[in-house]
Amino acid sequence: MKNLYILLILGGSIFFSQTISAQSRVDRILINEATRITNDSFPVFTATPKGARIYAVKQPNSAMLDAIDKGLDELFTVAKKNNYKKRLNYADYTIFIAKADRTQDRDRNYSPDIAVPAGQYAGSVYDQGGFIYAAGMVLAYNPCAFVFAEHTKDYTRVSNVVRYEGEHLVLYHNDRKRYNETADHSQGGGHPILN
Ligand SMILES: [Zn+2]
Repeated sequence: MKNLYILLILGGSIFFSQTISAQSRVDRILINEATRITNDSFPVFTATPKGARIYAVKQPNSAMLDAIDKGLDELFTVAKKNNYKKRLNYADYTIFIAKADRTQDRDRNYSPDIAVPAGQYAGSVYDQGGFIYAAGMVLAYNPCAFVFAEHTKDYTRVSNVVRYEGEHLVLYHNDRKRYNETADHSQGGGHPILN
């Protein structure tokens, strides 16, 4: 009995370490990209109750994690209404929670946003001089990953940001034409895309 117990523990730990190393090559690429975009580091790895994968600047509270699940709930529901089938599992999503580079928008509304390189928004009304403030940003399509800022209140906004960034990823995998038409907001158009 004692031997069996030891074997199970050992088996368990081998499986565990294999899983970790299989994830880490891809995750390292994602972490590098998130760091490049935000200049933050992401020492915390956790998951939402429903299994979305989270990297964060610090341990997110349960309201934050629940709000992320709620956003994905809404995304998956509307995706199924559109007969989309791919990437509708919580664990398909790796979500980075970065430091907020501002907490108020121009109208002084609570709006934790990240400053990101202007890219296709250079010269547009969003351009702040080489960067723009974004509520969230897609980091990778395969696997699905995006980043948004820490919130200390207004968790409804978190659910919305998650749903809206997720829309780009769901469209990429299920409806490439519509993805192409809606990926770039610099020419107008916003969220929600899916109804
Ligand atoms: Zn968008």
